[in-house]
Amino acid sequence: MLIIIEIMASLYSMKIEELSGIGIKRAELFHKLGVYSVGQLLNFYPRDYEDWSDITEISNVTDNTTVCIRAVVGSAFKTGYTKSGKFIARVSVFDDSGGAELVFFNNRYIVNMLKYGQTYLFFGKASHTLDGVSMVSPIFQPEKSSTAVQPIYNLTAGLNNKFIINSVKKALKLLPNTVNDPLPEELRTRFKLCDLKYAINNIHFPESIMALETARKRLVIEELLVLNLGLRSLKNRKRSQNKNIIIDDCSEQFEKLLPFALTNAQKRVISECIGDMKNPEITLNRLVQGDVGSGKTAVAASVCYTTINNGRQCAFMAPTEILAEQHYNSLKELLEPAGIRTALLTGSLRASEKDSIRKQLESGEIDLVIGTHALITDKTLFSDLGLVVTDEQHRFGVAQRAKLLSKGNSPHLLVMSATPIPRTLGLIIFGDLDISIIDELPPGRQEIETVIIDSAKRERALGFVRKTVEQGRQAYIVCPLIEEGDSDLISAEEYAAELMLNHFSDIPVGILHGKMKPAEKEAVMRDFADNKLKILVSTTVIEVGIDVPNATIMMIENAERFGLSQLHQLRGRVGRGEEKSYCILVSDSTTQNAYERLKTMKSTRDGFKIADADFRLRGPGDFFGSRQHGLPKLSISSLADTRNLDISQKIADYVIKDSQNLTDDRYRALSGEIKRLFKSTGDETLN
Ligand code: ADP
Ligand code: MG
Repeated sequence: MLIIIEIMASLYSMKIEELSGIGIKRAELFHKLGVYSVGQLLNFYPRDYEDWSDITEISNVTDNTTVCIRAVVGSAFKTGYTKSGKFIARVSVFDDSGGAELVFFNNRYIVNMLKYGQTYLFFGKASHTLDGVSMVSPIFQPEKSSTAVQPIYNLTAGLNNKFIINSVKKALKLLPNTVNDPLPEELRTRFKLCDLKYAINNIHFPESIMALETARKRLVIEELLVLNLGLRSLKNRKRSQNKNIIIDDCSEQFEKLLPFALTNAQKRVISECIGDMKNPEITLNRLVQGDVGSGKTAVAASVCYTTINNGRQCAFMAPTEILAEQHYNSLKELLEPAGIRTALLTGSLRASEKDSIRKQLESGEIDLVIGTHALITDKTLFSDLGLVVTDEQHRFGVAQRAKLLSKGNSPHLLVMSATPIPRTLGLIIFGDLDISIIDELPPGRQEIETVIIDSAKRERALGFVRKTVEQGRQAYIVCPLIEEGDSDLISAEEYAAELMLNHFSDIPVGILHGKMKPAEKEAVMRDFADNKLKILVSTTVIEVGIDVPNATIMMIENAERFGLSQLHQLRGRVGRGEEKSYCILVSDSTTQNAYERLKTMKSTRDGFKIADADFRLRGPGDFFGSRQHGLPKLSISSLADTRNLDISQKIADYVIKDSQNLTDDRYRALSGEIKRLFKSTGDETLN
């Protein structure tokens, strides 16, 4: 048993240059591909495969497709030079259905490699030319040889596919007969997964396409499982002790400050949070998910209130200045009468103002600071930070969260997110957090009617906006989203100017766009909130934050260009008051995908359902963008793979039930894999 473990582990410590045929020079090229050890070479999975078993008849070859043909060499080579001096060789090949011409460049040996009258498999891109089917530099093998499916690896200059194939073959020979599998046999049988050795062999050199699928599935699930278990153990560690124990629960006292009664969902989430903070054995480490308008701010305010009344400071971090300012204004109004000292700390304050606030934070004269990234710079110190709240968590990376936490003595953490993310994905991304969900909207919210129109009906929609404004309501109009490289689309300013000139010349219209200074934006938003502006034309900067109950129309141009979650957020800006509200989605797109996405918006108001649909239709990009989410790099699986995520989740539950900290000997190899995966994130605690 022990010997087997050592062999597998030793492949990771066996340097790539120790493999025969790989010298120092080639080793350096492998390093460029991230391969340093023989073990890593075995985990260097092909990026694609050539399927030599799926043979197309020449007469059925369509233009510009990658195909494999089986054909006999039926002519002598014609050789010559191109205008630019390249050696060129042409040869005709035939199968029962027809003929094709093969063209090879800069390969003098080719004339000896392909023998007249012999049959080969040719694989490559085929095109239709005036003379019929043609293939340029196809790869080939004798008809009767070798594997049906060939791997294609990511390459780097100086390292070709063939060389990598040979190296992998050598590495595979080093695999012991019985590999110590991270997934013990019992687990594999239960969840119908193949063993590691079969998987590694077949991911590189599949016996068939089915074998490849079997291998891939097993490796994907293993990787997701390892990720899953690793995140869970991070969570356990983070919960381990409470250095900021809260004695008094002041949430009832807090509720008296509010002009409304809290919903049951809000109360439940508040008590879940305070429950954690009172528990001497754990630190609050919780994600609060609640749809737009579900009242997350009040929940956070309540938890802050209790923390402060227990003698500690709170930091409240928002992703944008506008949002920070809005939170500051409402929290100040609510909490200052109760004697709580609040301050706003954002990047756009004057240096002297920032210094002064920082001094007061350090001396403990401020109880609650609300701010942006300015809060996490090294200059900001606290006297006694007990709680960190972050709003719209998905915009903060794990690293930023960690940095803010490092500012106190293990402060509690409350993360709020209005973007419902699919549940499976949430369990992974926020795997280190507990989750509370506010699943109830405050009473009296109106139904929002969602309509989808094309631009032919735009005039009518604008007429409806006018009528609504004349009745005393307000409206948001969101500009076409401008994508990089668009030249035919007008800018936000031009768009707004056109609207004002041709449609609303007698109505006060405000514009909000990304290039404005924070103070300018704030002035416009305040005017809109004060009902001085009737229509707010905006790019998506209003996505987060503004609360204007009198606004009853949200009209969105080029709606198909937005993610569903974004549309959902935008729609959440209306329907906050007593009056009936409308969301008008304008789109001329005719694609099936766009149609389905917009229809989802019409059919449901449930943020989670919308997130799931978005995830299904657009993949995970929307939830992360290019932002760092701080997860380890995955080599074969994808977080978009919800089905296998679900399976890995189930296996993780099973494993933990079976052996709490994976201490059982059967899980030794699995623990090893967890440590290896998390090494790449620099999370030393798992190593
Ligand atoms: P979000 O969850 O989107 O951050 P907010 O905290 O901004 O929502 O709350 C949306 C609006 O609902 C605010 O105007 C807030 O004052 C109001 N609100 C919050 N909770 C309640 C409640 N229990 N009853 C009535 N109104 C509430
Ligand atoms: Mg909010």
